[in-house]
Amino acid sequence: MDLRETAVSAMPKAAIRLFSGPYVAGDSLQAGIERAEHFAKQKVASSLDVLGEDAASPQDISEYIALYERLIDAITTNQLFRALPEPLRPSISLKPSSFVVAPKDENGMVISPGDIDWRSCEAAVETVVEYGAAQGIRMTIDMENHQWTDVTLDVHRHLFQKHGAMVGTVLQSRLFRTKDDVDQLPDGCRIRLCIGIYDEPETIALQDLHEMKNRMIPLARRMFEKNIVVEFATHEKWLINRFFSELVVPLHITPDRFETQTLLGVPRHKLINQLVSGEYFRNMPGVNGDTAALNTGIVHRLYVPFAEHWDKAIAYCRRRLIHSPNLFWTGFVNAPRVLYHSLFNK
Ligand SMILES: Cc1cc2nc3c(=O)[nH]c(=O)nc-3n(C[C@H](O)[C@H](O)[C@H](O)COP(=O)(O)OP(=O)(O)OC[C@H]3O[C@@H](n4cnc5c(N)ncnc54)[C@H](O)[C@@H]3O)c2cc1C
Repeated sequence: MDLRETAVSAMPKAAIRLFSGPYVAGDSLQAGIERAEHFAKQKVASSLDVLGEDAASPQDISEYIALYERLIDAITTNQLFRALPEPLRPSISLKPSSFVVAPKDENGMVISPGDIDWRSCEAAVETVVEYGAAQGIRMTIDMENHQWTDVTLDVHRHLFQKHGAMVGTVLQSRLFRTKDDVDQLPDGCRIRLCIGIYDEPETIALQDLHEMKNRMIPLARRMFEKNIVVEFATHEKWLINRFFSELVVPLHITPDRFETQTLLGVPRHKLINQLVSGEYFRNMPGVNGDTAALNTGIVHRLYVPFAEHWDKAIAYCRRRLIHSPNLFWTGFVNAPRVLYHSLFNK
């Protein structure tokens, strides 16, 4: 265990809660819904996600399924959300590890992948996706570390055949395999593209953050060629600028074929306001004709995690801080701002 891991493991719950405060909507389904309502009033879409530990028993899986179904019902019956155009309604994100019992070691790696009942994982995810799709709620299957890539893409491919772009998934630009994965994707599907949050070995993944970010551009270009709806997920303003100036505008990509996405708590308010109002595009060279619609604003979606109980959110955040040095150091650098936010709820 290195110094960072020791420090995170020893941090009291209260400290983890304080520092994760801005990144978590709250400790109930209602808190998640209220946060999504708050953003919807500002023309910002949300993707709601349940934070929690991995499933440890079939009982946990049943509880996750029931919770996601309650979340879907809460979105569907909400008057404010019902009145929104479909792309602005909250979507849902879910992690396959909530839907299968797959014991992990202290590094977050599944101990015996060959013994895991992946078919039951697919069946459980499908239960939720079917429930959501029937009510017109978009679902995204989050991507976990490389041990989950094949199973996640298989589940997505299978569910896409039944539910089309109501179900999407995620690709991580850091993995060498991602270019081939894009080529294998079904045309017309919906994919969130990000650098990936998990540290991966150098045998299978880029190690340089800048390279991972730059690689998102050719990957997104290839996705557009395949008529894939691209959800461009990054907090880097220069990368978002490249996405628009090198791809969206010159390729005449209309706003129904992409959205931008960021995480709750990362301070990007000004940029988000400019994107959803269209102000961002007003002086951008080449915005006319097919892309003139950009001037009225695009869809920006915030990833809004909530927990059922703070203990679950704290356990999850502690685990993520231990397994992601990048996240840890970003949190460290941002600690004063986060402290101010948590103490004064700004
Ligand atoms: C909507 C969404 C969904 C995601 N889903 C997945 C997924 O399914 N699987 C997966 O592996 N990864 C997922 N990610 C995480 C993603 O892979 C990256 O780890 C994350 O977006 C940070 O990468 P970045 O491109 O913003 O670059 P970074 O270098 O991490 O961040 C760029 C800059 O943004 C700011 N910043 C970033 N994070 C924070 C923070 N927590 N607090 C304050 N400032 C911060 C900092 O100024 C930083 O310098 C998702 C990200 C988003 C936005």
